[in-house]
Amino acid sequence: MQVRELRVQCCVVGGGPAGLMLGTLLARQGVEVAVLEKHADFLRDFRGDTIHPSTQELIHELGWLEEFHRLPHTKMDRVTVAVGGTPVTFADFRKLPVRSPYIAFMPQWEFLDFLATKAAGFPGFTLLRRTEASDLLIDEGRVVGVRANTETEIIEIRADLVVAADGRHSRLRDRAGLRAVAGSPPMDVLWFRLSRRATDHVEFFQGGKGALVAIDRGDYWQIAYTIPTNTYPELRALGIGELRHRISALAPALADRVDELGTWDDVHQLTVRVDRLDTWHRPGLLCIGDAAHAMSPAGGVGINLAIQDAVATANILGPKLLGHSLSDDDLAGVQARRELPVKLTQLFQLAILRDLYPKSLGDDTTAHVPPIFRVFRALPILRRATGRFIGLGIRPEHIADKVEP
Ligand SMILES: Cc1cc2nc3c(=O)[nH]c(=O)nc-3n(C[C@H](O)[C@H](O)[C@H](O)COP(=O)(O)OP(=O)(O)OC[C@H]3O[C@@H](n4cnc5c(N)ncnc54)[C@H](O)[C@@H]3O)c2cc1C
Repeated sequence: MQVRELRVQCCVVGGGPAGLMLGTLLARQGVEVAVLEKHADFLRDFRGDTIHPSTQELIHELGWLEEFHRLPHTKMDRVTVAVGGTPVTFADFRKLPVRSPYIAFMPQWEFLDFLATKAAGFPGFTLLRRTEASDLLIDEGRVVGVRANTETEIIEIRADLVVAADGRHSRLRDRAGLRAVAGSPPMDVLWFRLSRRATDHVEFFQGGKGALVAIDRGDYWQIAYTIPTNTYPELRALGIGELRHRISALAPALADRVDELGTWDDVHQLTVRVDRLDTWHRPGLLCIGDAAHAMSPAGGVGINLAIQDAVATANILGPKLLGHSLSDDDLAGVQARRELPVKLTQLFQLAILRDLYPKSLGDDTTAHVPPIFRVFRALPILRRATGRFIGLGIRPEHIADKVEP
């Protein structure tokens, strides 16, 4: 097969939230950057639809918020969790000091298409779709580029910096010999649609036998039903009727249409994994987003963290790349800046939210609701603190050269 060579200042592997945001911001600073994405488009497996207040604030700082809000989305200004049918407001975003004090639910492909379109307006930006990184190019122990495959050719992309933003199954971090410490036990998510009516009242999160998250996508509910990892075959053996029964019990408003789940072919299984690298970098290579710290869907904070990593990386490394003065210490600087927010967020996911997810297929989570939820019912002020934690995160990043104040 033909081998083509390419030279850029920064090669980003992965066109998810972390990679595309980083590519956009670097190109905006004038850095020559190539983003490699193995898929042809962004219409693929579910990876979360949540655009947090902090991410919308960054889009405002870039001067793009009005345009962004014209894309299809729904708004959620509070997170309400219903366990055993009793709702508790767990986070309230309404008083956050930002332009958009709510989570915007937007299909991720819309968000990524938006970023890709913006990035394409900068001369130094290249998005290589259908291009899968297969290995690192290493010279005397230093990462100097990436080898990638398309359908027709092999490309060798040489760069001053390679950023692995290739998600929770990152190949590049494995190739670099970076090892992850596993976090909380993995879980599986069953992902399917049920039709939606304007009169439906369904809480965002329902706990009971399993845990169900309902995302309003206009004319349908996108449902994520969580089960312990490796229990899908057991559930399937009980028949699709068992899944319908569980959904009806958790969300009675949907009981009249669970028959839309005709067979298991209507259900997709997604695997969740939580881990964190000890070291996010080696000479010439930096991992960010899920490649550095795979996040679970709990609290819907993974996209936010990925975006925040991208902003910190662009702020710290962009000027160094432009000035040809990038050092290994600068890569360590990104980890130093982002590690604490990541650790605390993973702890939060573990401590508060773990008990809301089932431990076995027969587990009923109403039996072990964390006592903190009773406290939330009694002390509504806490909702604002959780709203701040989820909505803005710890140490929120800002665009270094903002357009909008
Ligand atoms: C089931 C599930 C539900 C979730 N729900 C939410 C939610 O509601 N809200 C939230 O905030 N977070 C959620 N998360 C977490 C969130 O998906 C991640 O934290 C976030 O997507 C991380 O972004 P990323 O850009 O680092 O990685 P990813 O989004 O995984 O993007 C990585 C990209 O790299 C590409 N890629 C991979 N390998 C290669 C390669 N070798 N060459 C080229 N391209 C490659 C992939 O195709 C992909 O586009 C969920 C996670 C799971 C598993």
